[in-house]
Amino acid sequence: TRRVQEALESWQPPARLPVTLGERSYEIVVGDGLLARAGALLAPVLPARHAVVVTDETVGPLHLPTLRAGLEEAGFALLAEITVPPGEASKDFSRLQLVLERMLAAGADRRTAVIALGGGVVGDLAGFAAAIALRGLPFVQVPTTLLAQVDSSVGGKTGVNLALGKNLVGAFHQPRIVLADTATLATLPARELRAGYAEVAKHGLLSGERLWHWCETQGEALVRGESEALVTAVLESCRLKSAVVAGDEREESAEGGRALLNLGHTFGHALEAECGYGGTLLHGEAVAVGLGLAASLSARLGHCSQELPGRVIAHLQACGLPARIGDLPRGFSVAALLGRMRKDKKVRDGALRFVLLRGPGEAFTAGDVPAETVERLLRDEGC
Ligand code: NAD
Ligand code: MG
Repeated sequence: TRRVQEALESWQPPARLPVTLGERSYEIVVGDGLLARAGALLAPVLPARHAVVVTDETVGPLHLPTLRAGLEEAGFALLAEITVPPGEASKDFSRLQLVLERMLAAGADRRTAVIALGGGVVGDLAGFAAAIALRGLPFVQVPTTLLAQVDSSVGGKTGVNLALGKNLVGAFHQPRIVLADTATLATLPARELRAGYAEVAKHGLLSGERLWHWCETQGEALVRGESEALVTAVLESCRLKSAVVAGDEREESAEGGRALLNLGHTFGHALEAECGYGGTLLHGEAVAVGLGLAASLSARLGHCSQELPGRVIAHLQACGLPARIGDLPRGFSVAALLGRMRKDKKVRDGALRFVLLRGPGEAFTAGDVPAETVERLLRDEGC
């Protein structure tokens, strides 16, 4: 009874964060132990008490039993539990078709909710299936990686990959609710947790001195898996991302808005593409190096203080992330990286385009970065 009492006393109601998008508005619920109460949380925002769950082979055995119990407790019927192989390869057309066929064969109708339980791969795949099945089913995100909780589950982007490139096919389809259960992160491999933290640090740099300073003081506790730090990071990240999304839902602004969320990603995507999407370099690790390089480039171009890059790099490294090219276990060719950056979706009219910093909270898009400056930076970084 003492343990029960302690648990009751330490129990915090989950935090709720609104995402304001007119009639597509929804809430992000953040806290420990949400899966077990999923039915009660979902019932008010869904048209009916039936659903299909999409998960992957790693997450399903760990967390689906808790979610299933939480849904059934509130009278939800699970028409199908669809499990896909873990990893980026599941974000493709043949897998999408299988998921759609399973959903519809199980009797899903226009009121059946599609619940994504997993990381960004499951969220993007299940979300796209929800967007196109019967021309659109209600969708619920239950993200189980830090990356998915702070980034991919918020904003409504869904999709799959083509051999030509990542995320080239998809739809905007906003969820009805996001349940970010930070307790699910306890089973996430430490390397995945650190990689997700890179996007938190990015949000810190985008948000301003307050959140960036929080990162510098609490980031190391977070990557050790401390619950309080995780809840704060998810909440503050979602606050930043949802505010950006609310101002530019469909990434129509070329300069501000959602484009700023690409801080660190021009370099990051180039490094990731050079390594192939096989897990040798995780997206978040590439972004961490990209943040270090974006800060260094900003300093070289005279936009921010000369101290900022050192601060960014030291912090990411203290959290166990690579922050410079020299931190990575392999070398890169400057020409290959420049070639990749020229092909990046964000490149317009052949000029190199980067999100740069004047300081924390002061990001901007520069479309006129001289290739020579980038080349010299990459060489000096030990490329
Ligand atoms: P992921 O979904 O592949 O998950 C990473 C690994 O962790 C997988 O092996 C998974 O099985 C495992 N896993 C997930 N949750 C777990 C848990 N709680 N315990 C143990 N293992 C767990 O990868 P990710 O990093 O979550 O997401 C990457 C994907 O997200 C990419 O495809 C990327 O394009 C996409 N993404 C989308 C958006 C968006 O706005 N839609 C934004 C950023 C990234
Ligand atoms: Mg990213």
